[in-house]
Amino acid sequence: MELALFCTKVNILILVLALCSPCKFIQSPMDFGSSDFLHTRNTAASLDFGRLVFNSPSAVLKPRSPKDISLLLTFLSASSFGEVTVAARGAGHSIHGQAQALDGIVIEMDSIPSDIYIHKKGDDEAGFSHADISGGALWIELLEESLKVGLAPRSWTDYLYLSIGGTLSHGGVSGQTFKYGPQISNVLQLDVVTGKGELMTCSPTKNSELFYAVLGGLGQFGIITRARILLQDAPQKVRWARAFYDDFDTFTRDQELLLSMPDLVDYLEGFIVPNQLSLLGTSIAFPAHLGFVPEFHKVYYCIEFAVHDFQAKGTNAEQVVEKITKQMSHIPSLMYSVEVSYFDFLNRVRIEEMSLRSRGLWEVPHPWLNMFVPRSGIKDFKDLLLENISPEEFEGPILVYPLLRDKWDANTSAVLPDAPAEQVVYIVGVLRSATPASCPARCLDDILRRNRRIVEAASAPRIGAKQYLPRHPSPLHWPDHFGRRWNRFTARKSLFDPLSLLAPGQGIFTRTH
Ligand code: FAD
Repeated sequence: MELALFCTKVNILILVLALCSPCKFIQSPMDFGSSDFLHTRNTAASLDFGRLVFNSPSAVLKPRSPKDISLLLTFLSASSFGEVTVAARGAGHSIHGQAQALDGIVIEMDSIPSDIYIHKKGDDEAGFSHADISGGALWIELLEESLKVGLAPRSWTDYLYLSIGGTLSHGGVSGQTFKYGPQISNVLQLDVVTGKGELMTCSPTKNSELFYAVLGGLGQFGIITRARILLQDAPQKVRWARAFYDDFDTFTRDQELLLSMPDLVDYLEGFIVPNQLSLLGTSIAFPAHLGFVPEFHKVYYCIEFAVHDFQAKGTNAEQVVEKITKQMSHIPSLMYSVEVSYFDFLNRVRIEEMSLRSRGLWEVPHPWLNMFVPRSGIKDFKDLLLENISPEEFEGPILVYPLLRDKWDANTSAVLPDAPAEQVVYIVGVLRSATPASCPARCLDDILRRNRRIVEAASAPRIGAKQYLPRHPSPLHWPDHFGRRWNRFTARKSLFDPLSLLAPGQGIFTRTH
């Protein structure tokens, strides 16, 4: 397979695509504005955070504007380009090649300027403060810009170097989700280029089918070129607390206690601590000042929560944390809290990234697994997980924390477990690093096999879990994944990307002619 693309900066692009199997030449003059089209092999476009899948595209488009993307998709959907597919690439933090396009075209979304516009609502104005931002911009950019006027988005991911379009295509969850819903519940409007090349503005009241399809839609319906994100007043500081447990039931009971206090708690997460190694490079370790020596081979649990400090408005976060912890049942004395700036709190994973990078432990394979687990199945899931991961050797954090189903809009494409009567759903993130020392190449296959075993066992009705950031071994598994929402998902696909051009790396649909 060979592809040659020539681009002139005078707006005329001659595409010469030579696609083998079957070999085809397509020659067409096109205007791609000032975009760059690169002939590529082995570039960043075939690499992601997972370092498990390395599919090379034939070309990379660096658009300068949404119009360039629209032109490409209009052209591809109107021509008989056979197998060519297109993947938007945000920050490339997928695990299993979801932003890759084997022999297709990858669109580097970060080449469109971030172009952030903040609207701060006046006191007598209805509605919300909000930000308009490009789909390829990073959440960290939005935080930096909005803090300049004392505002910030309500709902976050733990790590901020992810793109707006990349997380809105999945959900976007973190410790604020129990209170405000995922990031996809905090979007007011989107600009989207559909698989047919139409550039559309959509919201809950305008082109709403496209709006809800795209949110949590795994990149299947369109490319998000701009998003309007809801903002709120940002605190200057945060009181960040951790409490440790040696009993899972007590741990989850306390998590649910905090879940019931949205007026006091601003952030709620938790971790399984299978061994000290699992905390390598993370800030979750038992702090030395507590003088605690963990028992060998014993699994611990940690609740992490935070309270925003609005001293000027009369909230003293330290007192609030004290009030909350009095009601909790953690191991006596194994609790601590610190005051940090709001920016440092939200950007906490960056510090861990720097520490891991400095030790060569960031750019390693990441056989991650993320699942939503109904409350009724969380204990069985924890047992299943610990049976399958060799707790003594596990490297990386295991996140476990509760969310509330009614904070998710059922119109979006995001999938939660089918247990509508259960309000509380846990998200579990098994964020394993396969460092060369702990996991030579062969062991990666073993971890991936075990992950699959966990997914299959946990998806059975006894637990009823669903994957978040899902990965399935073949397209045949997707109808089960979506369950009763599969028909709606496929109908939306026919409407917005009938040739299945978009996001082939998700492995859901096959390109049609
Ligand atoms: P990419 O990997 O670039 O793309 C992911 C998918 O979205 C692809 O299918 C791609 O084609 C599609 N896509 C990308 N941009 C667009 C667009 N503009 N329009 C339409 N489709 C698009 N997730 C959480 O919810 N919470 C977390 O706390 C969290 N923490 C993370 C921490 C790390 C270190 C990593 C590596 C991942 C984390 N994730 C988290 C997962 C992350 O949200 C997803 O992997 C997300 O897709 C990454 O965004 P990205 O910009 O890197 O997307």
